[in-house]
Amino acid sequence: MLLNPKDNQSNESVCRVSQSNNQELKNQSVNSKEIPLAGTDSIIKSQVSLAAYTSYRVGGPAQWYVAPRNLEELQASVEYAKKHSLPITVLGAGSNLLVSDHGIEGLVIVTRHLRHTQFDKDTGLVTVSAGEPIPALACEAAKQGYQGFEWAVGIPGTMGGAVVMNAGAHKGCIADILVSAEVLLPDGSLQTLRCDQLEYSYRTSKLQGSDIIVTQATFQLQPGADPTQVLAVTKQHQKQRLTTQPYHLPSCGSVFRNPKPYAAGWLIENTGLKGFQIGNAQVAQRHANFIVNCGGATARDIFYLIRHVQNEVQKRWSILLHPEVKMIGEFQAIG
Ligand SMILES: Cc1cc2nc3c(=O)[nH]c(=O)nc-3n(C[C@H](O)[C@H](O)[C@H](O)COP(=O)(O)OP(=O)(O)OC[C@H]3O[C@@H](n4cnc5c(N)ncnc54)[C@H](O)[C@@H]3O)c2cc1C
Repeated sequence: MLLNPKDNQSNESVCRVSQSNNQELKNQSVNSKEIPLAGTDSIIKSQVSLAAYTSYRVGGPAQWYVAPRNLEELQASVEYAKKHSLPITVLGAGSNLLVSDHGIEGLVIVTRHLRHTQFDKDTGLVTVSAGEPIPALACEAAKQGYQGFEWAVGIPGTMGGAVVMNAGAHKGCIADILVSAEVLLPDGSLQTLRCDQLEYSYRTSKLQGSDIIVTQATFQLQPGADPTQVLAVTKQHQKQRLTTQPYHLPSCGSVFRNPKPYAAGWLIENTGLKGFQIGNAQVAQRHANFIVNCGGATARDIFYLIRHVQNEVQKRWSILLHPEVKMIGEFQAIG
């Protein structure tokens, strides 16, 4: 069972303060709602539900939440967390996350307002801010006759999340086209890391689990192609996704990594788990490596279903499936 549920405090009063230590901040979180981020127009809010910020549409509140709109606000947010000893969690589009129903302690920084894209038609280099949505970028690149991003159109994340996850599909992935990533280090300084410094392999990078925030990335694409042809390939990938995967229901995409040489979906389907449901979380009928929120599921439902699938597949095939989805916050194993 899940233990120690925290109160989901409801806070009505607005308190504008600048605290000098975290204890003070913690005490005030019970009554605070909004704190202006000094030197910026940004506001730090308390107890913001994260369900709206994840593709699963589940998750409890962020203790503190901020959505910076530019690099300066991002740097100020990191500085603020440091000053108040708050752990930082970065959310892109929340499309590869399972956030606990109990929420997340510390400061949650949502990058989705960090938007900017610059195409250089002479070199084929494309520089993209962390919050830029991948599908929109894939479509824009195609419309402008750049090849290299067609595979990415069905990945509903941000560019920052994709760089961290080494997102990929249709035999393409971020590591194939990334030139460099600009990152914000915990000390507030910016650094440019080359692709070969990020230790990429299948859906992983050195950035995962680190305190490093991706602010923008530069990709090498091939300019000068016929936009009609690039768009046709891009749309074909999109169509293939929409017909084979359950895009009509909230999910995180593939839940488990493929344990080579097997596909996780094949193992789950052949364990007889398609359609199996815990609460309102279900192993998708359309693709067994997806767990979907049929409406009103909790993070706990999804978590228990992930564990159930792992147990049943291990019993049947002696293979332990490893989740690709990142679980954040407090979860407790069934016991
Ligand atoms: C329907 C569906 C289909 C999908 N299909 C695919 C697919 O084909 N291929 C694939 O690879 N993935 C797929 N995914 C998963 C997901 O879209 C990708 O992993 C995506 O790259 C996650 O990006 P995000 O912005 O949503 O990251 P989030 O889910 O918000 O975060 C993922 C991780 O990256 C960290 N992070 C995010 N942004 C930053 C940043 N700027 N700096 C530092 N850390 C950061 C987070 O802290 C977290 O650890 C799918 C998801 C869904 C819902």
